[in-house]
This record gives sequence, C-alpha cells and structure tokens, in this order.
Amino acid sequence: MKINLSNIKKAKNLLFNSECIAIPTETVYGLAGNAYSDKACKKIFTLKKRPKNNPLIVHYHKFQDLKKDCSFNKNFIKLYKKFCPGPITFILDLKKNSKISKFVTNKKKTLAVRFPKHPITRNLLKRLNFPLAAPSANLSKRVSAVCSSHVKDDFGKKIKYILEGGKSSIGLESTIIDLRTKPKILRLGGLDFSAIQRVLNQKVKIQNNPSKISAPGQFKLHYSPGIPIKLNIRKVKDDEAYILIREKKIKKSNYYFLSRKGDLKEAAKNLYSTLRKIKKNKHLSISVSKIPNKGLGKTINDRLIRASKF
Ligand code: AMP
Ligand code: MG
Repeated sequence: MKINLSNIKKAKNLLFNSECIAIPTETVYGLAGNAYSDKACKKIFTLKKRPKNNPLIVHYHKFQDLKKDCSFNKNFIKLYKKFCPGPITFILDLKKNSKISKFVTNKKKTLAVRFPKHPITRNLLKRLNFPLAAPSANLSKRVSAVCSSHVKDDFGKKIKYILEGGKSSIGLESTIIDLRTKPKILRLGGLDFSAIQRVLNQKVKIQNNPSKISAPGQFKLHYSPGIPIKLNIRKVKDDEAYILIREKKIKKSNYYFLSRKGDLKEAAKNLYSTLRKIKKNKHLSISVSKIPNKGLGKTINDRLIRASKF
C-alpha cells in the first residue's frame, strides 16, 4: 500500500494535540493516543468504554525507543530479533522514571509493548517523539476492527481521524508473552506460540485461565459479535449463519467461508470481518463447523470460545 504523507502528517498533528485516532496495524486497527499524555490515554478508555483496570499496549518504532521506559532481558532480545516488527507483545518491567501515563498501566509496575509492522504506522511512529498507547479500535468486549469501515461502524463521528491502511494482513490480535520471569503466554494471538518456543528453545506455558487474570484478553466474554455462537456444529437451520473453514460447492445464503482451501492464515484474516458481516446481515445466531486446533487455529478457537460466552 502506498504511503500518503499528508495523511500521516494529519495523524501526527492530532496526536501531538493529545487527540485519539485510529491506526492500521497488521494485527487489527488500534485506537491510538500519546502514551505519555494522561489526557490522551483517558480519552481512549472513554471512547472504547473500556474498564480502567484493563491496561493498554504501548507501540514503539524500535527497541532503542523503549530503553527509557522498560528494562529487558536476553529472552526479549532473542524474540525481538526474530519477530519484530510483528504480532508479538511483551510484558516487561516498567522503569521508575518512565513518562508513561499512569492511565496506561492502571498503576501497574509492568508495561505491555509491541513493535507493529504495518508500514504506514511505522512511518508515523518514526515521526513522533512519544510512543502510542493503542488498544484494539472496537467497543470493549466486541469484535476487533480489521478495516477502517469497522472502526467507523463502532465509533462514527466520535473518532477524530482514521488513518487508512487497508485490511489488516493478520486479522488477529498480537500474542502476549510475559518475559519478566519464566516466559509465559498470556494471550494466544497472531504469532503461533510454537514458533516462540523454538526461538527460546524451551516449552512455554500458556496461562490464559480466567481465574488468574493478568491480561483481560483472557476474560471469558470477549470478541463478541452480539449474537449467540455455537461451536463444532455439523448441521444448521436455514435462519442461522454457518461459518465453515473451507469453501464448499453447495453455496447457501447463510453459509460463510473463512478460506478457499482450509488455510488457517487466510481464515484468521477473515474471521472478524465475517463475524461483523453476519451481524450486519441480521442473522440471529451463528453456528461454526469444527476448526482444526493447531497453529493459528488455536487462536481462532480461543476467540470463538470467548465470543460464545454470550
Ligand atoms: P487490546 O485492548 O485488544 O489491545 O488488548 C490488550 C491486552 O493486553 C489486554 O488483554 C490487556 O489486559 C493486556 N495487557 C496490557 N498491559 C498489560 C500488562 N501490563 N500486563 C498484562 N497484560 C497486559
Ligand atoms: Mg481488544
């Protein structure tokens, strides 16, 4: 996608004035504000109707920019070299003299950081002298936005500007890993955690059990399209929407295919737009056929299970 400098300058000016704007990333669109500004960070929570105790991910251009805010270790450097910029978020210790707004962390002593890959957002980040706090650009507990039109559907005129960046190439939120002690995954995401295990050369525990919540992406109800969802379904009624991983010859108006040939990357990219489309088409419920529980399929299943707690 071509980079339009006048759009980036407009985004930059709004951010310098503590406004919130939507930015494209390869995972999902973000609702971004200056992470050093209390005013900007407060606005993010109000716009999203997000509970104050759900901390934000802070986005940086590169690792040198992070030095004043966080301390890091060898595991961080290994993963950074291999996967950044990309769909991985690190939980690190926040430095005492960091200027990160207290609203970002809800006074926690840790910070979630990410280096997004989308070229437009990287270009923007390079021009700023502050990092961007940016949760997903959707209303709290609802399906994330993977296109600018989804952001418009959720926020309408309440949002000052949407930096156009096309459809997000991954379409699932980042994988969150806590690196402060023994590495553990807090949220499955767009980077397959087995690739992380290979780089760290160790088994990494997945701790996304809601009874031990440290990342509310682990809350039970999340990612909800606002109608009931049932999983692992083989037969559906005509008035229900039916999501299938792979295209079938029989095409019915209530059938929605996530990919042509059962490819999990393609399915991940189409998941949230399909859920949003089904809601727009006014189906009253959704049934989903079995999705293979491997690689990105694990993340897709994680999101659908949480969305089904409606
Ligand atoms: P989103 O709002 O979709 O960007 O999700 C951000 C996720 O990162 C949420 O699940 C947060 O709870 C999680 N998160 C942000 N900061 C921290 C932190 N310091 N420790 C643990 N999880 C965090
Ligand atoms: Mg979110």
